[in-house]
Amino acid sequence: MLIDTHAHLNFDAFKDDADEVIRRSLDEKVWMINVGSHYTASKKAVEIAEKYEEGIYASIGLHPINLDTGLVKMKVDNTEGSRFEREFDYDKYKEIAKSNKVVAIGEIGLDYYWRPKTTAKKEIFKQRQKDLLLKELELSQDLDLPVIFHCRMAHPDLIEILKKEASKIKKGGVVHCFTGNQQEAKEYMKMGFYLGFNGIIFKFDLKEVIKMTPMERILVETDCPYLTPPQFKKERNEPIAIKYVAEEIAKIKKINLDDITKVTTQNAKKLFAI
Ligand SMILES: [Zn+2]
Repeated sequence: MLIDTHAHLNFDAFKDDADEVIRRSLDEKVWMINVGSHYTASKKAVEIAEKYEEGIYASIGLHPINLDTGLVKMKVDNTEGSRFEREFDYDKYKEIAKSNKVVAIGEIGLDYYWRPKTTAKKEIFKQRQKDLLLKELELSQDLDLPVIFHCRMAHPDLIEILKKEASKIKKGGVVHCFTGNQQEAKEYMKMGFYLGFNGIIFKFDLKEVIKMTPMERILVETDCPYLTPPQFKKERNEPIAIKYVAEEIAKIKKINLDDITKVTTQNAKKLFAI
């Protein structure tokens, strides 16, 4: 059994066949957490989870790239439906988190990839994301839930915030799709966080980071529909392809696949209390 700790069957890419994809996953003993990145996607993740007795869970939150700061031109695509929000509506998110299928707050964090060009605007842009993150950390504390972090080109800032806010993150969390360096990995682990690895390990060289990360700190995920492992041979990723990620980690760490499977599943169950 494996748990895909970061899936997006709540996105439009799966609007026609989410149930089929879930059936395939459950048949192969792959459980999943569908992660929200804005209100509609968060609500959808909860709705999907509630349809199933076991194995399907939800996380809710507003992803930093979906915060409309008015400072960058947003790239509109159709994979997630309408997704930009001007403010974080705390109570609205808190309301959907009442479902006992909600196991985390996320994905939340910092993403400086699409940033404004001028220094002044860049600073405001970063501050807006930091303010959003603090509000969402408050929600996780309020609801006593762990956190799923998204971080792109912003590890020093995220580490600094987490060090200051440690008291608000009692239930721990995971830095999903980890692509930082070894020093950053160490910093997160020192604070007790897990590192999430997915198909990006087939694109970026993360071998040294994976080697130095103890199994007890690793979570596996797909981030489907994105980041398809090349062995899956389909354009759209899905939870069953998580086995390729687990196999690759086993190969890099020279540990047998059963151990990776067992330990990462235990890690996920412990962190998300499932
Ligand atoms: Zn994601």
